[in-house]
Amino acid sequence: MSAQEFIPPDADTFDELKAAAAGCHGCELYENATQVVFGRGAPHARVVFVGEQPGDVEDQKGLPFVGPAGHLLRKAVDDAGIDPAIIYITNAVKHFRYELRGKRRIHQTPGPQHITACRPWLVAEFGLLKPEIVVVLGASAAKALLGPAFRVTRSRGTLMPWPASAQHPEDFPVDEIQALATIHPSAVLRADDRDVAYNGLVDDLKVVAKQLE
Ligand code: SF4
Repeated sequence: MSAQEFIPPDADTFDELKAAAAGCHGCELYENATQVVFGRGAPHARVVFVGEQPGDVEDQKGLPFVGPAGHLLRKAVDDAGIDPAIIYITNAVKHFRYELRGKRRIHQTPGPQHITACRPWLVAEFGLLKPEIVVVLGASAAKALLGPAFRVTRSRGTLMPWPASAQHPEDFPVDEIQALATIHPSAVLRADDRDVAYNGLVDDLKVVAKQLE
């Protein structure tokens, strides 16, 4: 399973990539999702945020991070002092994985096979973006980018050299890029103490803001 064969080799715009992703059958997740949810943001973003997968709202709207977790992330970006005009937001997996319980669609974490299958889209996005900093949001994105041994809770909030820390760094055609891992904004929504979790997310993002000065 891989998205690789669906990626136009000569694509040089996000619109081309997004149009091709709409026809991706690189894994089975397209079958039950409403539509593909591709990344969006500044075409020459300095900071790229990579989350796990679209949620229920994103699946219906076809846009990433437009549900509750997305609103929280945008507020955290603002509170950290990062200019929203220089960011691009995407996910490690681009179709919504869920299970039906009655009429409710319950989020299911994508498996390693989905993360691996979808990874060529991330590589293609990075190829156009060439960002300075990649913010890895949560464990699934960390698995896709930093390898299965990486632990967000242990290494969050620290800028790391890229590609030294990355999985298959040769895939990513970028120089002098850095990565920073932090929790996924949905983890803030689930936290017992949301204020503490939110402030932790903002503190991590302030490290990015400072680096951009
Ligand atoms: S999740 Fe990724 S690899 Fe799977 S069908 Fe969707 S775009 Fe293709």
